[in-house]
Formats: sequence, structure tokens, C-alpha cells
Amino acid sequence: MSTSTALLRSLRLTLARRCRHRPASRALSQLPEKGLVSSSKEPQSLAQVIEDSIKATGPMSVARYMQLCLTHPEWGYYSQGDVFGREGDFITSPEISQVFGELVAIWLLTRWMAAGSPERVRLLELGPGRGTLMDDVLRTFQALAKFKVDSVTLVEYSEKMRGIQRAKLGPRCEALGAKLIFEEEISGVQKSPLFTMFIAHEFFDALPVHVFQRDEAGFREVRVDRNPSHLPAAHNARFRLGVDRESSLLSQLLPASSARFGRLPIGSRVEICPDSSRIVRRVGEVMADGGGAGLIVDYGADRSFSDSVRGFRKHKVVDLFEEPGTADLTANVDFAYLKESLEGVAETAGPISQAQFLLSLGLEPRLDKLLASAADQEKRKRIQDGAKRLVDKTGMGTQYQVMAVVKGPASEDDVYPFDKTPKDPDSPKPEAQS
Ligand code: SAH
Repeated sequence: MSTSTALLRSLRLTLARRCRHRPASRALSQLPEKGLVSSSKEPQSLAQVIEDSIKATGPMSVARYMQLCLTHPEWGYYSQGDVFGREGDFITSPEISQVFGELVAIWLLTRWMAAGSPERVRLLELGPGRGTLMDDVLRTFQALAKFKVDSVTLVEYSEKMRGIQRAKLGPRCEALGAKLIFEEEISGVQKSPLFTMFIAHEFFDALPVHVFQRDEAGFREVRVDRNPSHLPAAHNARFRLGVDRESSLLSQLLPASSARFGRLPIGSRVEICPDSSRIVRRVGEVMADGGGAGLIVDYGADRSFSDSVRGFRKHKVVDLFEEPGTADLTANVDFAYLKESLEGVAETAGPISQAQFLLSLGLEPRLDKLLASAADQEKRKRIQDGAKRLVDKTGMGTQYQVMAVVKGPASEDDVYPFDKTPKDPDSPKPEAQS
């Protein structure tokens, strides 16, 4: 790596640290990209933007690559609008069955009761997509809850998605007399004396990860570089991954953020998501005054991953480098990292499988009720297939994990249906690789 690249990187880090109220990723994204400024021709695609940037300042981190692919104002994936559902690139649990949101609401109700049934609550969701999950939660509260919903705060950076969410949730919030608040960033969410109920479904997997490789001397960052053998006619990838020759400030700092990473075998790689750590910690912090409870549901496991970054297009897994900006890029969630980030801020429980969570909360009796009131056979089949898919032990039921975050009264107690038995600290689980 050249001296100028190293200098630029340490300048970016210093800047990021100075912007105490601004997350590092945003501060970085506001620095002009040299490649963009100096390019004589207007780029015609995101691949061109990325290539120009690499030509000008050298290989970019996987995190920067993901961030550009997902959020570039013109060509970023989420800047295109509604990408969900059967017609879109992927479909999520709340879109498959209303039972998902209903059971999430039931769990939130159990925590509200455990906290002494406060009269008023506020709701917080990170990355609400089409707003379907929040709508199902609010509908269930309208029918069952004995508290007043003071406000519903949605953290969503895509303007197009915020429009979809406002149209969906505006009327229900109005009916409940709840304020609907939008924040682009978690840093905009403030502490509150009210009990906070929060949900983050398929949010953390969308956050950019840095990739590092361990060798005898420590860690070096794995970056996105141009592929010298790329030939447009051969349709091979324009980019490839390469390992830095030297360590950087970030490759020294980030892998040191968890003792688990230092135990990885020499030669292995690890994906680390600093944004996930910052965001989950902030969620714990905003529950400090009024207490709260929430769920993080995502694919991943209670460990780190080495090679999980991938794209989704039309329900199929696609290569990370295939037509940047046209596929959803995601990485598995390291739940252990989220728990470590919350140490001293809030209690956590789990993760457990989605199947265990939903079945423990009464998926089957709720399903029976829905089936009994379904108008016809076709509707019954749709309801049954949807519910089956959510708890399928070879699919979503085990790939998706559910973790609870609790703060305030009763947070030290057992949190149903999670097993809060502490693990033996002397026998840490080895970091499996994938
Ligand atoms: N929870 C929804 C949508 C999941 S997709 C569901 O399960 O159906 C991820 C959502 O998070 C999208 O709405 C996307 O626009 C938003 N998002 C992704 N990264 C974000 C970030 N860093 N800050 C705010 N919103 C983000």
C-alpha cells in the first residue's frame, strides 16, 4: 500500500473519530472520492464509479464497496425503491405471513408486562422495509394492548423507502394517536423516559463489513481491486479481492475489538461490521432511562464468518461483483459481536432459532385460528404454506436467528423463550469458519 493511501486512511479515521455525533461511515462517505472528482468522463454505471475510485486511490475496503452498491444516491440498490416481495429480489418473513408480526407483538407484550405494564410506550424499528412488520405489530397492539403508543420511530436512510413506509403506517399511527417519526440514522434517536420497544428485522445483514486476513504478524485488510484479466467480452468479473501488503490502523484496531478474532487460525479471514457494533450499542443506550425490550432477527449465528458476503437477485444468490448496485448485498450477522457490543449497556438473550422462537410463542394455535376463519381453500393453503416456511427446519426456521435485548425492570430475569443460562467463560466456542 502506498504512503499516500495510508495517510489518507489515517486522516479518514481521525476525521471519523472527531465527528463524535456523526457515525464513522457517514463521515467517511462525505469525503470526496478522488476518483470521482478527477474523472474527466461522467461515469455511466456504478462499476465505472468503483473502477475510477480504485484507479485514483487504490483498492477499496469491502465495506466501502458494499456501501456504494447499497446506498449510492443514483445507482445504489436501496435507492431504486421497492425491492421486496415475490416480484422483488428477496422476500422476508413479515411479507410471507402476518403471523410473524403478530408473534413479535406478543413477545413485546410479555416484556411490557414483565416491566410493570407502563402506561405509555414508544416503538422503534431499524430498517422497516415496506413497513409490514410494524403494521402487523401495531394492528396486534390495537386489538390487545392496554397501553398508549406515544410514537413510532423508523430509522431508514432511503428516501424512497421512507415514502413507502409513510404511506403504509401513517393511517394506523393516526388511528392510534401516535407520532410517526423518521430518522436517517440511529444517532438521531434520543433517550426517552418511556419504555422503548424495538425491532430490527433483516437490518444488520445489510450493514457493510470489513474483511481481514490473519497471518503470523497480525491482520491485514482484504480489499476490492480491479481484475487485471477482466475482458468485457468474456463476461468475467471486473473486480477481485486482494490482501493488503501491510497492516493499517484499521486492521490493527478492528480485529482487536473482540478477543474471539485473535483466536482465529493463521491464514483465516474474518468479516467485522463496525457499524453493527455502534448501532446496537446506541439502541441499548437510548433505552437507559425508560427501559425497554427488543428483538434482532437476522441470518447468521453466534460466531463470526469469513466469507459470507453475497448478492441476492430475483431470489438467487449472485456473486459479489456481478453488476454492482443491481443486487442486494448482505453478510451473515455475528450475534456474538452484537452481544459483546452491548456489554455494560443492556442485557441480551439468545440467539435462538426462528423456529424455536415462533413455535414457543404459539405459532400453531394462532395458525389454527386463522385457518378456521379463512374464506376458502386457496386462502387456507396460502396461510398454511407461509407459516410452514417460517419454521422450516431446513430453511428459514434455522437460518434465521432471534436475539433479545432488554433493559430496565426484570431484564436480569429469564427472558422467555430464551435460555439465559450463562455459558462457561473458560471454554469459549471455537470460531468456526464459513
Ligand atoms: N425489515 C424489513 C426490511 C429489510 S431490508 C423486512 O424484513 O422486510 C433492510 C432495510 O433497512 C431497508 O428498508 C433499507 O432501506 C434499510 N437500511 C439498510 N441499511 C440501512 C442503514 N444503514 N440505515 C438505515 N436504514 C438502512
